Amino acid sequence: MSDLQNNIEKLETYLAHFRETGVLNQIGGKACPAASGATFETTSPVDDSLICQVARGDAADIDAAARAAKDAFPAWRDMAATDRKKILHKIADGIVARAEEIAFCECWDTGQALRFMSKAALRGAENFRFFADKAPSARDGQALPSPTLMNITTRLPIGPVGVITPWNTPFMLSTWKIAPALAAGCTVVHKPAEFSPVTARILMEIAEEAGLPKGVWNLVNGLGEEAGKALTEHPDIKAIAFVGESRTGSMIMRQGAQTLKRVHFELGGKNPVIVFDDADLDRALDAAIFMIYSLNGERCTSSSRLLVQDTIADEFETKLVERVNNIRVGHPLDPKTEIGPLIHKTHFDKVTGYFETARQDGATIAAGGTRVGTEGCFVRPTLFTGANNAMKIAQEEIFGPVLTSIRFGSEEEALQIANDIPYGLTGYVWTNDLTRALRFTNGLEAGMIWVNSENVRHLPTPFGGVKASGIGRDGGDWSFEFYMEQKHIGFATGQHAIPRLGA
Ligand code: NAD
Repeated sequence: MSDLQNNIEKLETYLAHFRETGVLNQIGGKACPAASGATFETTSPVDDSLICQVARGDAADIDAAARAAKDAFPAWRDMAATDRKKILHKIADGIVARAEEIAFCECWDTGQALRFMSKAALRGAENFRFFADKAPSARDGQALPSPTLMNITTRLPIGPVGVITPWNTPFMLSTWKIAPALAAGCTVVHKPAEFSPVTARILMEIAEEAGLPKGVWNLVNGLGEEAGKALTEHPDIKAIAFVGESRTGSMIMRQGAQTLKRVHFELGGKNPVIVFDDADLDRALDAAIFMIYSLNGERCTSSSRLLVQDTIADEFETKLVERVNNIRVGHPLDPKTEIGPLIHKTHFDKVTGYFETARQDGATIAAGGTRVGTEGCFVRPTLFTGANNAMKIAQEEIFGPVLTSIRFGSEEEALQIANDIPYGLTGYVWTNDLTRALRFTNGLEAGMIWVNSENVRHLPTPFGGVKASGIGRDGGDWSFEFYMEQKHIGFATGQHAIPRLGA
């Protein structure tokens, strides 16, 4: 039996209980359907087949979940941080134990290739371990003595929080948001994306099996405009950690205004990879290809705009075309596959619509630009050349395996093009001129920049974007800044003069 056939058989065993029960919500430690009894379908982008029904939660389910999170908050907040740490490590152990199941289900639900999803599951475990280890120091503060007072600061968890996640690498991103919230002492209501609900349910099961007290983490599936909206408007939810599109971020800000929600947004990107002619061009080529065509290009940090210096552009683009045409599109559970199907028919239509846009814009489709087969959401990895930065294919987030190549002459022009975009998530700079690298990164409008490297995530570093790419930072202590409130307490050290009114 081939690896693929073997994996498909295993997948069925992993999906069996979802086929039977559907994806349920979890409120106050109980698995439950939506209060209304409504469901929606989740389908696989491999062949458009039904995976299972999913509970379609609405405002009533969100209310029940928010109450459960509120009730569970005092005990979780007051639990010794060393005990919280142990539980979070047990969750990480549980993820490792079910890593294959998570990866297989994620591949089938999202279309992501197994070669990346097996690592994404393990990265989820690392996220839990990293924040577990930080839990005991989460409340640490400073001593800021003044002449009359001993001023100290400490941090306290903000309360029950809402976490809203997208469908791209949904498992890993859920752990990335939820682990620091729990480590900080917050309780959680999680609303996963409707296109990819399966692994969020597995994660929830792992957490409660690891001994997480009931109600500390609640799961409500549903549509963005129903369950998601209700979560952002709920008065008992103190903050919303959101990952998704920029325009959804705007909606959430409006929805949360009435209850003065604290928000943390990780939003869209149209990130430049800038290749100067003095760079190590072989490494730049590998990195540029990896950063747009891995994870089906459905990646917020993807380098979707290639800015290449005109002196090397012909040679660079020729090599690029050759490599892009060699990328293996196939079944996500085939270990050899490099690109699987796009998440859903709706997204497939959006991405393939840009092939026509490129033609209308006057760009050249140098590679790809077609669908693959007649079933499912498969597309050829695509390269647009002859583009300029004013074109839609250069300005809009396509969020697929589609790269737009733009040529530049000087460093000044490269910087101008790189910054001429509403987004500012990441940038990738390739040059061997150190002074230029310093100057260029200083001017580049992005929250995260890598020089002579692809995106290599290091958990203690800040993760987030500027402009329309986000508000706030995750990673290291920055995550705790969001999920916790600073508190200042001043103790008089003597009998300083107190102004006496009416004496
Ligand atoms: P999306 O904004 O459509 O949906 C994200 C989540 O928001 C889903 O759970 C959805 O149900 C919910 N939602 C939708 N409308 C809502 C509303 N009115 N109120 C509350 N919740 C609502 O995004 P998507 O299409 O699922 O994900 C792709 C996007 O996510 C891309 O733009 C990508 O760049 C971005 N993203 C950003 C990062 C980052 O770190 N910056 C990481 C991953 C993805």
